[in-house]
Amino acid sequence: MATSAVPKVHKNYINGEWVEARGGRALEDRNPANRAELIGIFPASTQDDVNDAVDAAKAAFRKWRLVPAPKRAEILYRAAETLVKRKEDLARDMTREMGKPLSETRGDVQEAIDMTYYMAGEGRRLSGQTVPSELPNKFAMSVREPLGVVGMITPWNFPMAIPSWKMMPALVCGNTVVIKPATDTPLSTYNLVQILIEAGLPAGVVNIVNGRGPDTGMPLVTHAGVAAVSFTGSTETGHLVNQGCATSFKPCHLEMGGKNIIIVMDDANLELAVEGAVWGGFGTSGQRCTAASRVAVHKKVYKEFLDRFADRVKALKVGDGLDPETEMGPLINQTQLETVMKYVEIGKAEGAKLVTGGHRAESGGLARGWYHEPTIFADVTPKMRIAQEEIFGPVVALIPFASFDEALEIADDVAYGLSASIYTRNVNQAYRAMRDLETGIVYVNAPTIGAEIQLPFGGTKSTGNGHREAGTAAIDFYSEWKTLYIDYSDRLQRAQIDTADLS
Ligand code: NAD
Repeated sequence: MATSAVPKVHKNYINGEWVEARGGRALEDRNPANRAELIGIFPASTQDDVNDAVDAAKAAFRKWRLVPAPKRAEILYRAAETLVKRKEDLARDMTREMGKPLSETRGDVQEAIDMTYYMAGEGRRLSGQTVPSELPNKFAMSVREPLGVVGMITPWNFPMAIPSWKMMPALVCGNTVVIKPATDTPLSTYNLVQILIEAGLPAGVVNIVNGRGPDTGMPLVTHAGVAAVSFTGSTETGHLVNQGCATSFKPCHLEMGGKNIIIVMDDANLELAVEGAVWGGFGTSGQRCTAASRVAVHKKVYKEFLDRFADRVKALKVGDGLDPETEMGPLINQTQLETVMKYVEIGKAEGAKLVTGGHRAESGGLARGWYHEPTIFADVTPKMRIAQEEIFGPVVALIPFASFDEALEIADDVAYGLSASIYTRNVNQAYRAMRDLETGIVYVNAPTIGAEIQLPFGGTKSTGNGHREAGTAAIDFYSEWKTLYIDYSDRLQRAQIDTADLS
């Protein structure tokens, strides 16, 4: 079993040891498909625990920064290999604590595998610049330096992939880490860290403090020993994290909410677009930052699309993610379920047409978990709250439009800017959409979800603050430039003042 090396009553991992939270309090991790099933007990940490973890990470940084990057990378390679071997057990653990079907949790683990191998490869690159100097007998270059201790705060919807997006680039660059996982899904982060430990990560290089956002997350954000913070979660929490970093000019990477759109043009392959909208809207029960919670459809094909889409969605098999037949699992917790139910009421009150779904799913034993029916609202207008606000659940708003320009206007008229997609066979429209959609990610003839780890991931407007996860863009956040000039002329040479002798 993936968890065999970690006890059921879990502790914090600080300075290479599993230790109790100083306050002795704990939090439960329960299966959202069956609330009676307790996955584990995890510490409820406070400022004292964060202090211990940051002290350990600071001490470890002194040595870790000097370990050659290719050697740091070898640990990542070993970890990636163990992830491959344990993929199935890790996926099962994740489905139990998070609810999404096994096919999806296997994908989540695979993303961690991909990221770990990719960042291990960066250990032999971490490229800087070498440029000619304007003066003779002088050498000019730039190198990447680690930042120090990086504090990481992660959400529950990708409980292994997202910690890997943050930890692997940070580690290969030579930083040390204190990570606070989401309280709903700590086990998957524990499993990932356990594998890094087995791969030979020295004590103190990665530390986990589990606990609630305000009690554990905020002390980490504001700790003077933390050099930078990487956060993924809601825009609301992102504001707080941003403020916590601002007073000390702490670099802060924020990945936040989305209100993503699929645009279906009248020339689209409708069958493909329907498949994309089902997967984009209801994959992970709509609990993805990139979920296609809006589908805008050209009026000429609106009726046909709606009928086909509704047929597919009504047939979705909702259930426990461990059942191979299941296509959509539960929501993560009661709060999330209540939020979805609240938005269904808002949609109805706004005058949108409820096509299917709209209730908590309780029949056939589903009342044991936090299930909601896959739900479609039709005839949604762009300014309705269900078309503007992130619901983070299995609710899709269908919006009719009459022209390509109108579709782009609808797409861009939201506070968020993570992902957008267009289904069309018209190359001119596809290129215009790629240019004009105000999102960090654009797909053509594919849904809004499905990013690959070798390219930047992140969004504009209220989704992000200019940084990106993944690809070499991640390296840019987890390292700082140092510029080096080496003068071997044996005389004072003044840049911009002295000129090279051309004779
Ligand atoms: P959340 O903001 O409630 O929690 C995220 C993390 O922040 C958790 O670890 C939580 O404990 C912590 N936290 C909460 N309050 C805090 C505080 N006051 N100080 C410090 N930390 C605090 O988000 P969530 O419900 O876990 O995740 C869902 C949200 O995450 C959605 O909005 C989704 O769009 C977003 N998300 C974004 C991306 C992305 O890459 N853009 C990816 C996944 C999820």
